[in-house]
Amino acid sequence: MTFRLAPSFQTIGRLALAGIIGASLIAGDAEAQQKQPSPGSAKALFGSASLPAQGPARPIGFYSKGCMLGGVALPVDGPTWQAMRLSRNRRWGNPAMIALLEQLSRDARQQIGWPGLLVGDISQPRGGPMFNGHTSHQIGLDADIWLMPMPTRRMTAEEREDLPFTTMLQKEKFLTINPRVWTQSHAELLMLAASYPQVERIFVNPAIKKKMCDTWRGDRTNLGKLRPIYGHDSHFHIRMKCPPGAADCKPQAPITDGDGCGKSLAWWFTKEPWAPPKPDARPPKPPREIMVADLPKVCAAVLDAPAAASMTASTDGGSTATALTAAPATPAAAGDLLPAVGPVPTDKPLVQ
Ligand SMILES: [Zn+2]
Repeated sequence: MTFRLAPSFQTIGRLALAGIIGASLIAGDAEAQQKQPSPGSAKALFGSASLPAQGPARPIGFYSKGCMLGGVALPVDGPTWQAMRLSRNRRWGNPAMIALLEQLSRDARQQIGWPGLLVGDISQPRGGPMFNGHTSHQIGLDADIWLMPMPTRRMTAEEREDLPFTTMLQKEKFLTINPRVWTQSHAELLMLAASYPQVERIFVNPAIKKKMCDTWRGDRTNLGKLRPIYGHDSHFHIRMKCPPGAADCKPQAPITDGDGCGKSLAWWFTKEPWAPPKPDARPPKPPREIMVADLPKVCAAVLDAPAAASMTASTDGGSTATALTAAPATPAAAGDLLPAVGPVPTDKPLVQ
């Protein structure tokens, strides 16, 4: 089902353009100007753990409020993937997440000819809140995949730091896909990712969701898993369900709007999500810094738990493909920061 754009679209387009540009800047590496967390805050403590907490794999808490035990690293390189932005040390995830990424990369090459995945942030070694970028990615069940196919050669560590994101949007238009970069293979990759039963949601830009709603001719059963959100125009974000038996993992409410191509998508094409704050509005209170005590209780123990023996030992398959040494960690911004532009929608489509 498609929907028609509101008659005031042109006006909205002009009004919103500044917001979109702002949002995409925020989503990129250019935005690195974030405040450092205070010593002792959850972001500082989880951000400084360089190795995972030993133990059985365990996602603890919610995607945006939790931590993880027994994290495993995605090898820097595989036959069908390359990990990006290595200095961030965010290649860690629940083993089920790592296995899914490897499988998706293989299936994408075999089934749709996608050469391989460029894998962005998964989680920190012990999960937890990050000092920049994401609000989620805290329990090892979220991962960002670039919407750019992997090059055929192995990139250097520097290239992986510096390779710019490619947006799928037309820069001069409101929420419009750029037909010069978007291909049918992108659509197939998203639907392939959505096809795995353990995948719970996939976050994409509203323009990408609309493109899929308007043009996808295959089976639409899993189309509802594609959820529109700010940013996410150069990467998509895979969220897995809590794995079976993960008692401390708090599931997200199920999707209730079918293929998601109706009202909830149309909302993104109105003024509301992009409206600047009213000039007379009181500036919002800066959010309080998250402390370890704000997370599930077990997370304090996760911070104190003994570290895995080494990065190699805790890389999937015991891979030695960690020879690419990353530059020292820098506070680069991540790909899917929720907006500092415009109001955060709290009562309409979900926010990750
Ligand atoms: Zn993400």
